[in-house]
Amino acid sequence: MGPGTADDGTTGDGALGRPELLAALREEDPERQEALRRRAEAVRTACVGEAVHLRALIEVSNHCIRRCTYCGLRAPNRRLARYRLSMNEVLDAARSAASLGLGTVVIQAGEDPALTERWVAELVRRLKGETGLAVTLSLGARTPAELRAWRRAGADRYLLRFETSNRALFRHVHPDAPGWGADRLDLLRVLRDLDYEVGSGVIVGLPGQTWNDLVTDLETFRRLDLDMIGVGPYLAHPDTPLGRSAGCAPPGTGQVPPSETVTGRVVALTRLLCPRSNIPATTAVETLAPGRGYECALSFGANVLMPCFTPATQAARYETYPGHNERLVSSAQAVADARRRIAALGRVVGTGDGMSPNVVRRRAVGGAA
Ligand code: SF4
Repeated sequence: MGPGTADDGTTGDGALGRPELLAALREEDPERQEALRRRAEAVRTACVGEAVHLRALIEVSNHCIRRCTYCGLRAPNRRLARYRLSMNEVLDAARSAASLGLGTVVIQAGEDPALTERWVAELVRRLKGETGLAVTLSLGARTPAELRAWRRAGADRYLLRFETSNRALFRHVHPDAPGWGADRLDLLRVLRDLDYEVGSGVIVGLPGQTWNDLVTDLETFRRLDLDMIGVGPYLAHPDTPLGRSAGCAPPGTGQVPPSETVTGRVVALTRLLCPRSNIPATTAVETLAPGRGYECALSFGANVLMPCFTPATQAARYETYPGHNERLVSSAQAVADARRRIAALGRVVGTGDGMSPNVVRRRAVGGAA
């Protein structure tokens, strides 16, 4: 490997300090950008291989008690028709995923108190017992007691994006923190102590986000030793305060643009810093660049795709941003499309549960709680 890449494939790139990260993030020269892409792909090949893992995404509820200023699910958005799936609907979708050969189901929702500790624990037990799938939960900033109960019920993974490491910006776009005072970074440590596979991520180009913020985001990924990392571009939603405001600051103000190319560079640097993490090609980058967004992320170091298994009657209502699930086909067609696009890149579809190699390594050395 060349200078600056992961030395032995087991640790992040120690040669990438803040100046190098800042320069790489802002690099517009096509040849240098291509060199970054090739470095990230070399590390991806060495550390997680050619497999692209498919996860079945089931959005179980679009109810949310929070008022995040960028998100279409925010509680004050009265234009959104709300839904909540029954346990049987979730199980049916998961069985469909298992029958199509997927190894993991991702249970996602807004922060919906109706998804109680008991209901989610029962769902996890039935998913594990009846489908054998690995279970990832993405249910927002829930209490440590709930997270513990769901881990005991058998949940394998938890996703909780910290969205931005700039605490002032975080508070600005998340005006109401949970009543019990959780900080998302603290919760990520709780998840690690509970021996979950831990995932997080950020929004690229959130209004108010500077290049230095994004550098700190990347350093935070490395410091937290995350197992899964999702990055997607900011997409303005017209029914939110942020979407109704003037939008992004013009070039020259230090504002990060929410573009496909910047997202690609963030994915590449994430791969260099966290070589054994699972990194999805997010729906947001595909929504921004239809027909090529997944390919962009996958060719800059990503190794996961998440076809939608939310029932077609409800999927378009999980509108965190405009266009999310808009072009939804059946889940079987979504899987077929993912397989076709993976093959076109010369990659292979992953088998099994696709556990993050970062977890395998950590547990092997006794780092798990
Ligand atoms: S970002 Fe999450 S917590 Fe915030 S309003 Fe949207 S769904 Fe709710």
